[in-house]
Amino acid sequence: MKHITHWIGGKPWTGGIAAQQGDVYNPATGQVSGTVDFAGPAEVSAAVQAAAGAFPAWRATSLVKRAAVLFAFREQLRARQADIAALISTEHGKVASDAAGEVARGLEVVEFACGIPHLLKGGFSENVSTGVDAYSLRQPLGVVAGITPFNFPAMVPMWMFPIAIACGNTFVLKPSEKDPSASLLVAELLAAAGLPDGVFNVVHGGKAAVDALLTHPEVRAVSFVGSTPVARYVWQTGTASGKRVQALGGAKNHMVVLPDADLDLAADAAVSAGFGSAGERCMAISVLVAVDPVGDELVAKIAERVARLRVGPGSDEASEMGPLVTAAHRDKVASYLDSGVGEGAVLAIDGRDHPVTGGAAEGFWLGPSVLDHVTPPMRCYADEIFGPVLSVVRAATYHDALQVINANPYGNGTAIFTNDGGAARTFTSEVEVGMVGINVPIPVPMAFYSFGGWKASLFGDTHVHGTEGVHFYTRGKAVTSRWLDPSHGGVNLGFPVNG
Ligand code: NAD
Repeated sequence: MKHITHWIGGKPWTGGIAAQQGDVYNPATGQVSGTVDFAGPAEVSAAVQAAAGAFPAWRATSLVKRAAVLFAFREQLRARQADIAALISTEHGKVASDAAGEVARGLEVVEFACGIPHLLKGGFSENVSTGVDAYSLRQPLGVVAGITPFNFPAMVPMWMFPIAIACGNTFVLKPSEKDPSASLLVAELLAAAGLPDGVFNVVHGGKAAVDALLTHPEVRAVSFVGSTPVARYVWQTGTASGKRVQALGGAKNHMVVLPDADLDLAADAAVSAGFGSAGERCMAISVLVAVDPVGDELVAKIAERVARLRVGPGSDEASEMGPLVTAAHRDKVASYLDSGVGEGAVLAIDGRDHPVTGGAAEGFWLGPSVLDHVTPPMRCYADEIFGPVLSVVRAATYHDALQVINANPYGNGTAIFTNDGGAARTFTSEVEVGMVGINVPIPVPMAFYSFGGWKASLFGDTHVHGTEGVHFYTRGKAVTSRWLDPSHGGVNLGFPVNG
């Protein structure tokens, strides 16, 4: 049985037996594959102290040297991409190609962070007043923490730490306790890339570890990604402790299909975005809004495609969709099929009947499902299901479709499928959602843009990575300087004005 522990000060934690541990499962077999130590305040304190101790030297390390470590880390990651993907697949359940894809998207953020010498360039204005110059600079915060969800055990941490450490901060990661192993391989690769001990640390666990980070006086900022109730709690608790917090929450992402859309393209997109990674993506399409009269034809095209999907273990290269992360989550997701029907929806595709190829009977399986004729008051619409269940809402007009989306409390991602550029442009302007796709179902921004939703999908005002990420992990300083000039001087009690 694998034993997973914390990574503190550049090595696995040896500070004693954990008071609490958790089981880690292989979702494709339903068996426990390892145990993970849960940190309490003592372990979190040790990690924060290691990070605080490493901060002065790391902050003083030149930008070029910090970038060199990130370049080396990029090479390490590329060389071990398949190993990380295999680890993710074993603990999360997603198919290996999808896991490799999340490592690739994380790599893009590492590559963005390699440009830190350019990204941290400030401004300089000569002679803002006679003989006076002004300039701006951005400096690191100190120890910063990242708390991440189960669904992207490599990519979401990589939204955070490459930029945080490139900016000169030191980092404590608290990954999901459901799939903790990828974070430890990442820690080893960072060490192999030459990152000094203590700059990157990992503590495992649940609420107790999170609370210890949120209230630790040495932690200056917290990046969180997870469900909305926990995001709200993290934002409230962290800011009450005086920390800078960005907390990304859950989602209900709508894909609108207008009558002029290419329905084959739209059906392909709905199936890919609805059932990829078993729907356990914050940018998954969970609601299809079919504008009359396309609903029936679209659902029929989706059904044809779903019937051909191969559900099976992530370790089998032929599998297209893996199991769900835990048995409890699978059961909760499946319960929406019954509640939806109970509230008047039509179960167009029942994933409980979908064949599983090569999977153990005890695995946490649920095939792709479609609930048609869903309406906003239904529980299957109101809740974030976070599984392979696509709800189809019928709308009479574009305006009705827009109204459904804008009335939804979440605002992470959305997409419109149409061949009408004017309609797409109007939608982009009117929709109250942070990330918009036009004929692109999962509009995850590239690393050099920033990722984040609106409304209940993000607490705080800074999105992750891109220039907003650089901004979040630094604070600005404006300097006004005058070098002695014999023609200036003397007492002046007036407020400084330009002259
Ligand atoms: P989660 O909220 O249960 O857990 C996220 C993190 O918070 C984990 O590290 C977990 O250990 C910790 N945590 C859990 N309960 C806690 C509590 N009561 N107090 C303090 N910490 C707690 O989320 P999850 O199930 O791991 O991930 C799925 C959720 O994440 C979905 O809602 C999904 O939409 C969301 N998500 C959002 C984004 C985004 O960018 N907005 C990206 C990925 C996932």
